[in-house]
Amino acid sequence: MRPILKAKKGVEMSRKRIDEVKNRRFRRIIRYVYENCPFYRRKFKSAGVDVDKIRNVEDISKIPFTTKQELREAYPLKIICVPKEKVVRIQMSGGTTGQPVIVPYTRRDVEQWKEMVLRAFYIAGITSKDVIQITPAFGLWNGGFGFHFAADAINAFIIPIGPGNTRNQLRFMRDFGTTVLCSTASYPLRLIEVANEMGIDLKELELEKMLLGAEPWSDEMRRIIENEFDVKTYDIPGLTEMGGVGTVGFECPERNGLHMWEDNYVVEVIDPETGEVLDDGEEGEVVYTALNREAMPLIRYRSGEVSAVVSREPCDCGIEHMTLKRIRGRTDDMIIYRGVKFYPADVEEILAGYGITQYRIVLDDKVSIEFEGDESLIQKIARDIKEFLGFKPILKALPYGTLERFEGKAKRLMRKC
Ligand SMILES: [Zn+2]
Repeated sequence: MRPILKAKKGVEMSRKRIDEVKNRRFRRIIRYVYENCPFYRRKFKSAGVDVDKIRNVEDISKIPFTTKQELREAYPLKIICVPKEKVVRIQMSGGTTGQPVIVPYTRRDVEQWKEMVLRAFYIAGITSKDVIQITPAFGLWNGGFGFHFAADAINAFIIPIGPGNTRNQLRFMRDFGTTVLCSTASYPLRLIEVANEMGIDLKELELEKMLLGAEPWSDEMRRIIENEFDVKTYDIPGLTEMGGVGTVGFECPERNGLHMWEDNYVVEVIDPETGEVLDDGEEGEVVYTALNREAMPLIRYRSGEVSAVVSREPCDCGIEHMTLKRIRGRTDDMIIYRGVKFYPADVEEILAGYGITQYRIVLDDKVSIEFEGDESLIQKIARDIKEFLGFKPILKALPYGTLERFEGKAKRLMRKC
């Protein structure tokens, strides 16, 4: 089957078909990890899980969670279900400090990654005629590869430029007629600034679509990016532990949230304190179970992402896979200040409403927000933050160009305590 047709079939699965595949794969994967992975065998035994009694996805709450700490302790390949000879590559998750989290892939896992990104391409209408500029890294951090595999499969024109050198990025966009940009969500902001310096009119570029992800970004920021570039943006969520950027789902074309590929992942939202599964609509930590991976299919993995289930009903866009809210932040980024809980993206939403794209949140015993913009905005911003987030920050207006710029994920939060 042509790769994009397979993607179309996956995207357009009926509810009935999704449930059949999901339950069948769920039973299979639980038995598979039990039989092939000592880590899970031990874990299931000590939790008293009888794998013969796991009949369908409803039984999932009997199974214990897998945590990031366990993955760190599993370094290098202690949670693996296949002999090492079957591994074709590794990727690494997140942080630059401490014990790395390693994700191994078999050939089939690489295929799965590609197939999921092809679903995104199908939804966004990306074809062999597109010129796809891939700015996330080609290295251990998984960023660029998934886009590359999918773009290669449809014979698109690939510019595998990787991160950095923003002037070159813009020059290539202009000279090769890039139509699709894949990047972190904050990178287009840097592109806007450098384009201004270079005298490039962004609206003159042939750019039509952007696939943005790897970090939370607000709707207000999206409006700024879409206006400046005259493009349509798509949110592409992704988690290395689940196989890389683009594996778990893709944004709904109607912008109702993110459709999660339920034939490939079971997605739950739990209370991070108690571990209880929350009702739909309630915000909590997202937990993933990989149903269709081979080297290291994680079961009930606590992702640290914060979101909520929007709907399990068929969507207006025609897709029947469940909808999750766009990721608001990570549990580690949550700020609790005088009893109020919020995320950097909540502050961003307010600042971007005033056209502010460069900011930093500094936490000590108070919350300070530094932004590049006019001092006259301070009062309005303070009022909005009080009204929508419920606290009073210290606000500081800085001259344009003062704050550090980022070419990968932006670091907006500084904890000094
Ligand atoms: Zn939809």
